[in-house]
Amino acid sequence: MGDLRKDYVLDKFIVMPEASQAVSEDRNSDGSNCPYCPGNESMTEPAILALVVKEGMLQRLSDSEDSIIEDWSVRVFQSEKPVVATSSATSYSEKPLYSEPAYGYHQIVVASPDHNQSLSHISVEQWGNVLVVIQDRVRWLYTQKSVTYVSIYVNSGASAGAQVSHPHLNIVTFSSIPPVIDTEAEGAHRFMNENGNCPACSFIGVESSGPRQILATDNFIAFCPWAPTYPYEFWVYPKRHITSFSKITQKEINDLALMLRATLGGMSKALRDAPFNLVFHLSPEKKNSRLIHWHIEVYPQMNTWSGLERGFGVFVNHVRPEKSAEILGSSCRKELAGLVGIV
Ligand SMILES: [Zn+2]
Ligand SMILES: [Zn+2]
Ligand SMILES: [Zn+2]
Repeated sequence: MGDLRKDYVLDKFIVMPEASQAVSEDRNSDGSNCPYCPGNESMTEPAILALVVKEGMLQRLSDSEDSIIEDWSVRVFQSEKPVVATSSATSYSEKPLYSEPAYGYHQIVVASPDHNQSLSHISVEQWGNVLVVIQDRVRWLYTQKSVTYVSIYVNSGASAGAQVSHPHLNIVTFSSIPPVIDTEAEGAHRFMNENGNCPACSFIGVESSGPRQILATDNFIAFCPWAPTYPYEFWVYPKRHITSFSKITQKEINDLALMLRATLGGMSKALRDAPFNLVFHLSPEKKNSRLIHWHIEVYPQMNTWSGLERGFGVFVNHVRPEKSAEILGSSCRKELAGLVGIV
């Protein structure tokens, strides 16, 4: 296991994984050497969860020592190049040279058996299957000791950090709350104490049907935030105040699947398949004092950072969110209409 170091003074995590094994980089478009493709299951760790769709029913299976589940729709296994690990602990050290073991689970969720698909193109139903699996994993991981936070993210495109081009998500757990979530939770609590309500509920009200909204479904809203870090950045929020992703209903999962497929599909058309990161900002479910109105943030990667961003945390964004919302909104609404069959 590697170690997780904190800066001398800042609340900043730096993970230093174990000397990493060489990972087979997959750049083959036919997927013949891709470890995530059907037929190559033995190239990865055994499936912890293989979701199989049989006669319209979802079966949750897993690989055993002598059998590998085939014909899966979504497949989850331990990462071959983990950022964190559950093997025996290394040492702790105190500030100013603080370090703790980088303890946790790193799982890969393969989002489709089809190598040439992407999260912007898989069906709404398949997105629903992926979300069912993510919910299953979040619930299970929070029952494990030393899991304080479950981070879920997508790297799409090599410049967004993807090591394998087959569509997939990463799930990485930590024994402390990552700084961004901690800052969001602290800010939300301060706002709540001063104003008596959740900040997200309040800005959702402001953004609804405003110039930065890009799409709304029954339960979710997508909009470009007032102060976006990245050009064309957008956020997806449940409209109702809900802090636990584990508790959302199947109906909400289906609606979120439609929302994600429509916005990612619309984004990929408007931005010509630009690389992007997508992150789930969920509450740390074991800490009541750190609950947040959960949401998803999408960061298209269209530009590089300068000294101002890297050195001072001040971001220059040449695309105003109102303009981003206009471009993404028209593309995403067309995508949604196509998906639900209104032309
Ligand atoms: Zn593949
Ligand atoms: Zn709220
Ligand atoms: Zn957030």
